[in-house]
Amino acid sequence: MKKVFCVGELLIDFVAENQGSNLAEALEFTKKAGGAPANVACAIAKLGGKSIFVGSVGDDPFGSFLLNTLKNEGVDISLAQICSTFTTLAFVSLAEDGERDFVFSRGADKELTYDASLRKGFHGNMLHLGAATALLGGPLETSYSKYLFDALTKEMFISFDPNYRSDLWRDDEKKFIKKCMPFIEKSHLCKFSEEEALLLSGKTELDDACDFFHEVGTKIIAITLGKKGTLVSSNNTRTIVPSIAVKPVDTTGAGDAFIGCLLYQISNLDNYNKAFENRLLLIDMIEMANKAGALTTTNYGAIPSLPTKTQLEV
Ligand code: ATP
Repeated sequence: MKKVFCVGELLIDFVAENQGSNLAEALEFTKKAGGAPANVACAIAKLGGKSIFVGSVGDDPFGSFLLNTLKNEGVDISLAQICSTFTTLAFVSLAEDGERDFVFSRGADKELTYDASLRKGFHGNMLHLGAATALLGGPLETSYSKYLFDALTKEMFISFDPNYRSDLWRDDEKKFIKKCMPFIEKSHLCKFSEEEALLLSGKTELDDACDFFHEVGTKIIAITLGKKGTLVSSNNTRTIVPSIAVKPVDTTGAGDAFIGCLLYQISNLDNYNKAFENRLLLIDMIEMANKAGALTTTNYGAIPSLPTKTQLEV
């Protein structure tokens, strides 16, 4: 089984207690561990895979809480960094239908410094970059580019999720697109929401967006479509793989559960090229990943709702 290095932010999600209230109205918040790449690391570990989290938290109680949460989920945190900046915080409210609203107070996550010693563990393993805050600047952004370069020289399987947040890139979408392109060009697998696929490709149809991403270099494109499932495209297949029917209460982490489950399955292949060469295998893997995404929506919070292997096999 290959190791999956998940690089990026780990933060506190303060989730508004009363579903249906917006952030202005909410009075009580519950503290939860969050951050897309950290959620992906937990999703992989919870399924029995080997995930290593590479990110930075503050030297404060929130940072300790976050690292302990990851450790308890089975994630290897030995490469995480602790810095003097306060841990990054996100405030989240949930609408009646489970959709969310975010406000970020950015701190320690951006301080991740590049560690060249990681390269020796990279060879033949996998790298997942989930860029919600990483492309906003700071040492983390520089580290992202360097780890991408290292991964290319170490024959890693590279996965990228842009995790576009409109609050963070308001009026600066062009910059976001420009910053994402090198990662899209070099990744074997890119996971997009429908909005991200259209934004990043500049197209109006998902089919054209897939053509664009393949032309620039991505081998597998997975466009998650909520309850409709996932549009998957590779050199030999393009189809919508349906999801299972569930009653969602909180969609936080569904996309991370999806990509985590897909990466977990790829980490178990003796040769990751099989994921692009064998269309039936790819579709089966997407089906399983859809189920992981769907199950995650049936409970509150991202990490506690991630499924185990047993839950997926039911
Ligand atoms: P995020 O907003 O967390 O980054 P996302 O928008 O990429 O995630 P979704 O499309 O909401 O992710 O969900 C990922 C996958 O989970 C979907 O492709 C689908 O397979 C499954 N899923 C999500 N919501 C539902 C639902 N209501 N019913 C069934 N399956 C769902």
